[in-house]
Amino acid sequence: MHVRDQLYIDGKWVDASKKGSIDVINPATEEIIGKVPIGSSEDVDKAVAAAKSAFETWSKSDINQRIEALNALSNAFKERGEELAQTITAEVGTPIGYSRVAMVGTPRVVSRSYAKILENFSWEEEVRNSLICKEPVGVCAFITPWNFPLHQIIGKVAPAIAAGCTMILKPSKEAPLSAFILADILDEIGLPAGVFNLVSGHGSDIGNYMSSHPDVDMVSFTGSTGAGVSVSQSAAPTIKRVTLELGGKSANVALDDADPVLVAKKAIGACHQNSGQTCSALTRLIIPEGMNEQICEIIAGKNDSYLVGDPLDENTRCGPMVSSRQQTSVTEYIQSGINEGAILISGGLGMPDGIDKGFYVKPTIFANVTQDMRIWKEEIFGPVLVITTYKNESEALSLANDSVYGLSGGVWSASNERAIEFAKKMRTGQVSVNGGAFNVSAPFGGYKLSGNGRELGTHGLEEFLEIKAIQM
Ligand code: NAD
Repeated sequence: MHVRDQLYIDGKWVDASKKGSIDVINPATEEIIGKVPIGSSEDVDKAVAAAKSAFETWSKSDINQRIEALNALSNAFKERGEELAQTITAEVGTPIGYSRVAMVGTPRVVSRSYAKILENFSWEEEVRNSLICKEPVGVCAFITPWNFPLHQIIGKVAPAIAAGCTMILKPSKEAPLSAFILADILDEIGLPAGVFNLVSGHGSDIGNYMSSHPDVDMVSFTGSTGAGVSVSQSAAPTIKRVTLELGGKSANVALDDADPVLVAKKAIGACHQNSGQTCSALTRLIIPEGMNEQICEIIAGKNDSYLVGDPLDENTRCGPMVSSRQQTSVTEYIQSGINEGAILISGGLGMPDGIDKGFYVKPTIFANVTQDMRIWKEEIFGPVLVITTYKNESEALSLANDSVYGLSGGVWSASNERAIEFAKKMRTGQVSVNGGAFNVSAPFGGYKLSGNGRELGTHGLEEFLEIKAIQM
């Protein structure tokens, strides 16, 4: 049992102002596996005051001190990798192999990448008679979701440390435990008091309070579009900087010269990774009419044998949904697909065979999906792939761009050049061409309702900087 009964404020573990705790539930077993405090506005005030005071020195800290801190953080992720992977698997239900690589491996590499970026980053440049200086934006509030809990935190904490900012983190209530281990690590590596503060609690309460706080200079939010709107509204009167990483409904397009077998094989993992609870998942597969039969047949066969089960089993590909609420929501979407007349070619309603406990759903594939259906338009956030067909390339593009979101995407073609030309026309923040791998140094972020601003790489660092022009 992971019982964390204190908050991390100003370099110390301290009691929360009010009593009460949030239960953390293992979605595979439905058992309570941990507890974290319910922070209140008083705790946020203390954390913001600590961050404001620490900003005086940390904003002027030596770049080598920041590089050392980021490298030490990366090393600690390596040393405590298994503990972190097990903890995240327990709170999110992510299959353990994927946890090791994506949930812990990626934050380790991202932390190190910011140490590397700092080695050559230019903080000043001259433009005619002006000296342009880059300075840390100030005190930052971070509000993060549960699906990649540590990765989403480090996508904010690492560039903020690099920039010389100070911060208050509010992790999600479903998966807060890795954030507490992070606070332990930052304490152990000697990050100065007040630079990083952790206050757990409810988003609608303290998340909202952090967003409106007059002494917070920037709020960086990752989560649902609805909560992102609310954060923006709370932040507006204080004109703080707001960056938003929100939902997605990304298109995966096979051009007519693509290899249908390869497209079909890769489409399932691209949708179902992290049990389909991935903001950048490629959840709409758009294929030429002539490939429909072949691709659907391969995908249905592969999906039928997609291994669902205990996330601690090394062979498991798909674990449970994070919560009973999420299980209900995904199930309702599967029902709506059936009701609206999409063709269910694999999966469907009910628990996967042989499983009677945990918040599981069946990985599911719908074909003949049309643009008026909810499963085409809305983010399901579960292992549900929808397939539609097109007659010509301009129709493929208009289907790909037929979304209020624009976070990610994929294009397949025998010609990389042709795929890149198509990718350029997609209204979305990232596109993978012929299965191109995720790159931790490339900017990640959304067009349209998928958000504002970018994380990762140099672009992610610049979100944490103010720009000053000194005329000489
Ligand atoms: P969520 O919006 O419910 O919660 C995210 C965080 O916001 C949590 O910490 C929550 O406590 C807090 N919160 C909720 N309401 C708030 C409010 N009114 N004011 C301030 N804070 C509030 O999202 P979730 O269910 O945890 O995560 C799933 C969503 O996140 C999906 O829509 C997914 O696409 C999105 N997401 C986006 C990215 C990205 O990088 N674009 C990454 C992961 C997840």
